[in-house]
Amino acid sequence: MALIVQKFGGTSVGTVERIEQVAEKVKRFHEAGDQIVVVVSAMSGETNRLIGLAKQIMEQPDPRELDVMVSTGEQVTIGLLAMALLKCGVQAVSYTGNQVRILTDSAHTKARIQQIDDARIRAELKAGKVVVVAGFQGVDEQGNITTLGRGGSDTTGVALAAALKADECQIYTDVDGVYTTDPRVVPQAQRLDKITFEEMLEMASLGSKVLQIRSVEFAGKYNVPLRVLHSFQEGPGTLITLDEEESMEQPIISGIAFNRDEAKLTIRGVPDTPGVAFKILGPISAANIEVDMIVQNVAHDNTTDFTFTVHRNDYQSALEILKRTGVEIGARESVGDTKIAKVSIVGVGMRSHAGVASQMFEALAKESINIQMISTSEIKVSVVIEEKYLELAVRALHTAFELDAPARGAE
Ligand code: ADP
Ligand code: ASP
Ligand code: MG
Repeated sequence: MALIVQKFGGTSVGTVERIEQVAEKVKRFHEAGDQIVVVVSAMSGETNRLIGLAKQIMEQPDPRELDVMVSTGEQVTIGLLAMALLKCGVQAVSYTGNQVRILTDSAHTKARIQQIDDARIRAELKAGKVVVVAGFQGVDEQGNITTLGRGGSDTTGVALAAALKADECQIYTDVDGVYTTDPRVVPQAQRLDKITFEEMLEMASLGSKVLQIRSVEFAGKYNVPLRVLHSFQEGPGTLITLDEEESMEQPIISGIAFNRDEAKLTIRGVPDTPGVAFKILGPISAANIEVDMIVQNVAHDNTTDFTFTVHRNDYQSALEILKRTGVEIGARESVGDTKIAKVSIVGVGMRSHAGVASQMFEALAKESINIQMISTSEIKVSVVIEEKYLELAVRALHTAFELDAPARGAE
């Protein structure tokens, strides 16, 4: 008998019919003798709808009150799924994050799970029930409702699997696994049988929203066997694993990630003196703004240009701060650009292969796509380009690194 945590995302519980289909699926596992904990998201579109309502009242909604209302999406689906299970003859019971006691810190809208009390869930499982838990939500020490950030139900699923020492955490969604890149952008993308935690973490951090970043961090830290599967189609899905197979066939690049979430800021004509980077970025970090990529040009005429990226939500505040700094340090000008995109190639195979970055730059050059910034780590290369070329760049790289699925009939 296995203990399995199954998480179903928004589209998988998007209608009453789908919820009934999910119940049938869970029933099959339960009847086969497994102990099942199900984690559900809100119905697709519901979290956006709730945030929209809040924004009609406050442009920047109060974070505590926002959590109180956006967490209701998941409370609806746990009740509906538990009913659907009862209707098809499965003993089931639903729990909110507070009822389980998924304890988090108090960082509303982006809270981190600190501890999970597994007593009630274990007792219900022992009594033969399927336990349905609300994703995305928790409670802090003071009893305030918190949420875990967009896509946070993945993290609820993995954290519960870790707390219960489950045999597997299965993430059911609207694609049949993790692909070489978002299949909505590149139809030739291929499903991966396996991907390492390290690669998946890079992919998620660099923009592949198929799994929330924290869920992958949790799974890696507690070694939770994690699989991404299609909710309503049979198939092996993608296993997220620890081992890096040293096979000859291992591709250099496992996947391509991208995002449109960042904006670029440049300060020009900065006197090139020691401490200049600190003078520019100190006030930005003091304002709690995270900086991603950074480039400082070689000094010319004793002045230099300095460019960095931040999340688009922080763009306006970062630009205002930079303009003030520019005046203080006597820079020529401070400018910004929100129409950028970041494209990254990811793969552990890069460690043992030279020339991967230049192969990437060549593929982009062939499409006449200008690279504005570059950053690398051991297993990834990221570039910033003009946003309008994003899809072209991703497709070109997918082909250049031989990730395209073979054309039909050519197999
Ligand atoms: P859910 O609501 O089930 O949590 P999400 O929309 O959060 O589903 O995640 C699934 C979506 O992630 C897919 O529909 C797909 O478009 C997108 N996606 C982005 N990158 C990838 C990738 N590399 N592999 C698979 N799906 C991806
Ligand atoms: N409902 C939440 C969201 O839309 C959490 C989730 O779906 O994982 O972000
Ligand atoms: Mg998701």
